[in-house]
Amino acid sequence: MKMYLVKTPWLLKKIYPQLIWDSDKRDRVIYLTFDDGPIPIVTPFVLNILEQYKAKATFFCIGENVTKHTDIFANVKAAGHTIGNHTFNHLKGWDTADDIYLQNFVKASDLLHTSLFRPPYGRVKRSQIKLLKEQQPDLKIIMWDVLSGDFDTTLSPEKCLQNVLKHTEPGSIIVFHDSIKAFERLEYVLPRAMEVWSKDGYTFSCLNQDF
Ligand SMILES: [Zn+2]
Repeated sequence: MKMYLVKTPWLLKKIYPQLIWDSDKRDRVIYLTFDDGPIPIVTPFVLNILEQYKAKATFFCIGENVTKHTDIFANVKAAGHTIGNHTFNHLKGWDTADDIYLQNFVKASDLLHTSLFRPPYGRVKRSQIKLLKEQQPDLKIIMWDVLSGDFDTTLSPEKCLQNVLKHTEPGSIIVFHDSIKAFERLEYVLPRAMEVWSKDGYTFSCLNQDF
């Protein structure tokens, strides 16, 4: 059974107005985001595709991966993409004590130097949101509008492509993963989706402080 929704329901956006779910609907801009990297093969693949479309994107990095793959991390930054914090060890907020969660966030923050944060699995407690914002007042917590499901190994690459194309609209924040698990789908979907969106007049921007 599918345990996630591709399109974020409006009700959830209303319940958590302090989180960011999408952007201005007036411009034909898409915000591609890539979680869980940087790692060999997959992150360089993504960088290459983005370059082909002159696209900028946002990479929510796991601190531990940054310490292991400093050269790939440097390449992401050098290409002009935006970096976001995704904790040091990819902690699930709902299962983690608040003080441990904050420490793990800070450990990643010391490496990543960013005001953007995405909670792993999208699971974060209200008490943790409060702590993080006290720690870093300019912090923007970025959720999403479209979850590609690229991490779902039961999902065919074709179906994954249909999902993202169907649900994306101007201002959408779309989640992909630069991870081994997602690669079979990502490798198929990303170039095809970007081709369709480009022909449709979309441009691709990174998230920034203005959100
Ligand atoms: Zn993640």
